[in-house]
Amino acid sequence: MKIGILGGGQLGRMLALAAYPLGIQAELYDPSPDACAGQVASLLSAPYDDHATLARLAEGKVCITYEFENVPIETARWLAERIPVRPTPRALELFQDRLYEKQFLNSIGVPTPAFAPVDPHCPEAALEVVGLPCVVKTRRFGYDGKGQGVARTREEFHTLLQQLQPHALIAEAFVAFDREVSVLGVRSLSGELAFYPLVENHHREGILRVSIVNPPETPTDDALWRTATDYLTRLLQTLEYVGVVALEMFQVGTQLLANEVAPRVHNSGHWSIEGAETSQFENHVRAITGLPLGSVALRGYSAMVNLIGELPPIEAVLRIPNAHLHLYGKSPRPGRKLGHITIRADTRAERDALLRQTLEACGIRLESVLAALSTSSV
Ligand code: AMP
Repeated sequence: MKIGILGGGQLGRMLALAAYPLGIQAELYDPSPDACAGQVASLLSAPYDDHATLARLAEGKVCITYEFENVPIETARWLAERIPVRPTPRALELFQDRLYEKQFLNSIGVPTPAFAPVDPHCPEAALEVVGLPCVVKTRRFGYDGKGQGVARTREEFHTLLQQLQPHALIAEAFVAFDREVSVLGVRSLSGELAFYPLVENHHREGILRVSIVNPPETPTDDALWRTATDYLTRLLQTLEYVGVVALEMFQVGTQLLANEVAPRVHNSGHWSIEGAETSQFENHVRAITGLPLGSVALRGYSAMVNLIGELPPIEAVLRIPNAHLHLYGKSPRPGRKLGHITIRADTRAERDALLRQTLEACGIRLESVLAALSTSSV
């Protein structure tokens, strides 16, 4: 069996790697001939509107999927007329635009921060809806905190608009959240559902740095997980979605507000390669090819550390017990995701100690992570 993947970054690479043990071959498609997934699987390199090469991608495949949501919608639609595209172009269309995304979420009863589109002729109208402070974001093509900023005053709001226009913009109420969390869900072709546990995410400069995964231990975490999986169930069933989806949320007390949906495998699920019985990558491949889903049960306590911009001393990392290094084969550049490390352990205390060790080896100091770790030693 063969699948085609639009996008040839690290997510495509890990999807291709997860497909091989199932006897499924992946072919990737990326405008860049150097896309890192090309190191592990066949890569077609052409612009996204090159129909001849898109037709080659579709040839002999059971379906096409995508590893990032900024694939042009026309490309997904063109392919969908010829071969199943999973998740559907409709999901892509909704979740590549922050306004459509939030309107859709509200329409299925999933709460979000207050939001409003910014009308360039009357920007104050958006301010009236969301208040101050607020966050202004480009509706499309924003990622890792790019294309957005926080305004505390009217003046800052107007300065931000000048910086971000002429792009279409959305304003959102600024949420003073307790923490950022995400939950990944997957729906198979036959409608089977599975949900990974709640993940606590720590960002710096808008980029995910560390994810921490615990088996649900407190009634609050359990209640949050139930709420999140209820939101995901509505989303997956309304869209008849097939594949993995990620829902990023802000936790405020016992409430969850949806921030973003990724219609694909997600950085906050990388820990699942070692930390779950079936990784998000394998379950995505299983779902889109019509196979039964695998168990999402946890293998103990996990954490993931992203390697951004530069690589740590590799040997020091590899000496840490239970540290699993994944490098994406990309050359270092500021802000670029070069790899990640997953820590897996049988107890929370052991995981926390190993995570501290890993952060030190990588020269990463994140106060919010250190505060979240148990102080007990192994
Ligand atoms: P996003 O690109 O929407 O995921 O935003 C990147 C990061 O900016 C998030 O992970 C949050 O840390 C922060 N952020 C985004 N939207 C808001 C908001 N409405 N209120 C507070 N912080 C936000």
